[in-house]
Amino acid sequence: MSSLAARQIVDDVETHDAAQAKTMPLGAGIRTGAEYLAGLRDGRDVWSRGKRIADVTAEPGMARGAAMLASFLDKQHDETWQDAITYVDEDGRRCPMAFKRPRSKEDVKARGRAYYEWAKWSNGMFGRTPDYKNASVMAFAAASDFLTQGTKGPGGAQMAQNMIDFYDYVRTNDKVLTHTLVNPTFNHARAKEGKFSSEVALQVVEETADGVIVNGARLLATLGPFADEIEVFPSTVLRASEDNIPFAFAFAMPINTPGLKLLCRDSYDEGKSTFDAPLASRYEEMDAVVIFENVLVPWERVFLYGQPELCNQAFNATNAVVHMMHQVACGKLAKAEFMVGLMCKIAAASGRDKDLHTKGLISEVMMMCETVRSHLFAAEEQAHEDQFGTFIPLRGPLDTSRNMFPKMYPRMVEILQLIGSSSLMATPAEADFHNEMSGDVETYFQLANLESRDRVALYRLAHDVAVSGFGNRQALYERFFFGPPALMASAYYDIYDKQPKIDRIDDLLAQG
Ligand SMILES: Cc1cc2nc3c(=O)[nH]c(=O)nc-3n(C[C@H](O)[C@H](O)[C@H](O)COP(=O)(O)OP(=O)(O)OC[C@H]3O[C@@H](n4cnc5c(N)ncnc54)[C@H](O)[C@@H]3O)c2cc1C
Repeated sequence: MSSLAARQIVDDVETHDAAQAKTMPLGAGIRTGAEYLAGLRDGRDVWSRGKRIADVTAEPGMARGAAMLASFLDKQHDETWQDAITYVDEDGRRCPMAFKRPRSKEDVKARGRAYYEWAKWSNGMFGRTPDYKNASVMAFAAASDFLTQGTKGPGGAQMAQNMIDFYDYVRTNDKVLTHTLVNPTFNHARAKEGKFSSEVALQVVEETADGVIVNGARLLATLGPFADEIEVFPSTVLRASEDNIPFAFAFAMPINTPGLKLLCRDSYDEGKSTFDAPLASRYEEMDAVVIFENVLVPWERVFLYGQPELCNQAFNATNAVVHMMHQVACGKLAKAEFMVGLMCKIAAASGRDKDLHTKGLISEVMMMCETVRSHLFAAEEQAHEDQFGTFIPLRGPLDTSRNMFPKMYPRMVEILQLIGSSSLMATPAEADFHNEMSGDVETYFQLANLESRDRVALYRLAHDVAVSGFGNRQALYERFFFGPPALMASAYYDIYDKQPKIDRIDDLLAQG
């Protein structure tokens, strides 16, 4: 058992019972990409483009995304990255860095460096790398004292232990997780009141000796078809009323659990070459609506149950949201740097890097990029110990970043469209360099400082950021993946340290 588990076990919890040891055995640490891919061939119920997918690792439109993630997992074994992105636990297992409980400011920074490395491999375009959820699981396990407040189901002490067991299971088996937090909105007015539709929202329909049975739908699970496990956690505000009790829970289960179905959107990987679709051909991470058809959740997989107020507090009270914001800010820095690089390359290719207007537009992107960097710096430098004995980066700068990036990224895309203009449409296919059009393409697609083929490659990349379906989904992702912008901004307002600023206004007014 890990030191985290040993430290956190609450007194009245019995040690692992036989069932837990069977369903959540400890593993050997980091996996290879091949091991990960083999694990995805587990009979999961995934639907895409009107049919059930027999094997997501072989399915056109999905296979390359899965293979890309596998290649990332392989990097954990590569000495170039290994020390930055993994750690060795007290039992000698090498595990992903995002699972390491930070005990110092240096640990927080080390986690930040690992997040940044992961993000750079895709320039932030494979947004949902496993470190995002790993960070959250680590935080929930480290703050498992919070879960001991549970009074329903198996009781808080057991649910806290469940979280620790789950953490040790996914950490030592290097499991890839997705999560789904949001009930589909059936009626906005009711949703605003914190009430959900019993026709569509995921809810507990029965309690049994073995666990709870849940039925309904959730959205959205980015990476769903490529994940081993799904966390079904609360996030939207649940009114603390009797009728919301069936909607209040946090649990996790393997993706191939009977009755769990993933209904995917269309793939943006349409089988094009990496030249023709440089991003979509590589970083299709897929999103899916999750449907639960009377699914049994064993008690040992339940972490919160039947207490809406406790559920509402969960991400904040455990500081899981802060660790997730940290991972996100590191990823967004890598993405913003990529956008700067892409725009500078385009400007230099056409000679517009001397043009005042173009420089002004790109410098706006540079400033956004450096704003993210300074948020990150401020947060890491002011890392501090929380009430659970875990070090966390300072929330304020990261919260600022997660509220601003959803506005920054669409503006970056807009600027890319402004400087790219019709060149984003002048994008012959790779095949046109090898057919009877090749002479024309070589002649008419040159730029002042780029040969035709390099120019087309560059603008195809820009097209995949600013115009393609893949690119538009990226913008939508940035706007929404962390939650509804209005709600996040409202929460920011609520916790902002307003009073000293208001006092200064009062002081001035008091002067008459
Ligand atoms: C590409 C993508 C990937 C995603 N991946 C995941 C994932 O992996 N896991 C997951 O759980 N979720 C994921 N999400 C879902 C995300 O959490 C939601 O999109 C987000 O929480 C908003 O919820 P919603 O889509 O139901 O929009 P709604 O709640 O319907 O909101 C629509 C609009 O109304 C605004 N609004 C909502 N409530 C209010 C209010 N009370 N007052 C004023 N305005 C309001 C919102 O700000 C938003 O602009 C993903 C979303 C996208 C687009």
